[in-house]
Amino acid sequence: MSDYSAVFNCPGCGSPLQTPEGTISLSCSYCGLIMRIGSPGRILKYLYNTSMDTFAVKFSVERYLKTKGLSLKYTELGSNLYHLPFYRFRGMSYSLFREQKFEEYDDPEIPPTTPIDIFEQKCRNFDLTIPAYDNTQFGLESLGIRPEVMPLTAMFQNNFPEESISVDITLTPEQAREKAMGFFFFNLGNASCNKELVSSEMVGEGLSVIYYPVWSYCMELGGMKSTLFIDGLNKRVYNEAPGEYYYRPSDTDFSGASEINPVSHKCPNCGFNLPTSECSLFYYCANCRRSYMIHNDSYLSAEARGAVYENGEYYHPFWRFPFAAGDKFNTVSEFSRILTGEIPLVARKKAENLFYLYAPAFKTADLGFLTSIGTAVCRIQPELNKRVEGFDRAAEMILPESEALELARHYWDLMRHKYRYLTGPDYHFNSCRLGPGELYWLSLSRPCGSPGSDSYSERKQAKKNRSYA
Ligand SMILES: [Zn+2]
Ligand SMILES: [Zn+2]
Repeated sequence: MSDYSAVFNCPGCGSPLQTPEGTISLSCSYCGLIMRIGSPGRILKYLYNTSMDTFAVKFSVERYLKTKGLSLKYTELGSNLYHLPFYRFRGMSYSLFREQKFEEYDDPEIPPTTPIDIFEQKCRNFDLTIPAYDNTQFGLESLGIRPEVMPLTAMFQNNFPEESISVDITLTPEQAREKAMGFFFFNLGNASCNKELVSSEMVGEGLSVIYYPVWSYCMELGGMKSTLFIDGLNKRVYNEAPGEYYYRPSDTDFSGASEINPVSHKCPNCGFNLPTSECSLFYYCANCRRSYMIHNDSYLSAEARGAVYENGEYYHPFWRFPFAAGDKFNTVSEFSRILTGEIPLVARKKAENLFYLYAPAFKTADLGFLTSIGTAVCRIQPELNKRVEGFDRAAEMILPESEALELARHYWDLMRHKYRYLTGPDYHFNSCRLGPGELYWLSLSRPCGSPGSDSYSERKQAKKNRSYA
């Protein structure tokens, strides 16, 4: 998935800096200033700048009239530049489908017995834009793939072009998220008819607001008034509406989004510069050896806990949550009794341990692989008493606890839906109890396609293209 880039001016030296949208921290390539611009849950505003002026608009209008074989003897009634707000969501989607099949016998006399459940899991990266406004006059439903053409400009001190009118944001992020989810799973469901969607999650959503430039041009031609809408980036007329249309904004904004506001990215304890990263939420101060997690736009003290999982030196971050189903089950041996095939053999020393749900908190291109490693750790219920000090982190922590929890919920659904007696309301995730999340770095025997880990991720990507295309 190629990413959108955004441009903003360095607060230190004023140079224009280009960085992927959603970047957490970076250093200025001109003056070296270390800064943080992102935080999970913070929604930033961006805009696309149009290079079209009123002259270019007129040129587009005439080209349009010519291709439609219409006369150029029109009267201009007025033109306006608007910026239409869109929410952009991106992240991972996980869904589990169930299909019921009857066993078939060669002898037609034998009636079919009970149906067998066949499960299919789908993991996808998604990247959707949906309008943040409810006005349908403009006729623009989605940004499609156009935004990749040029970088976004981060919103700073209301830097819309002069005389541009920004359209009201009348949808809250929650409403937009619901719309996006409905839209996404509707499409997914269409692709899998006869299958029942038993679990679905959207995890790790990056959310931003993008203003897209659109010109309107009102005209009278042959006694008829109409308004043409011109895409400010590709410079084509894309919509024509009868009558003279003008939009009047009321300064409504339900997005809670903010302008870019770079802050210094330093250790809150000793003031030493912290390392920078596009997506890491976890930072280690090399000077005073403390660790921090970015949470609600601030630095929370965190512990870098390493533990042995596999033999290997590749430490990857996982969230774990103590988990209790119903009132009865909260130890490994109790869960092994209800998830008979999932946790088949329990070492006696593990039996009385608390049961945990684990969720990988690192990035890898292959979501199917991520799921298999996440569910494998859930099944194995590793004993994490072999604590490790001074380990090298082989992957960045990119998933906030709240998103990890959604992934944990999906893994629980993956495990329990294989057992009919666990599909009842008592075992629904919301009826279960979940303790606070803890972050652990677990040793893996090989790297998992994190940034900089070479050909392994490419191989995984090629495999992904085969099995998840
Ligand atoms: Zn600078
Ligand atoms: Zn420090």
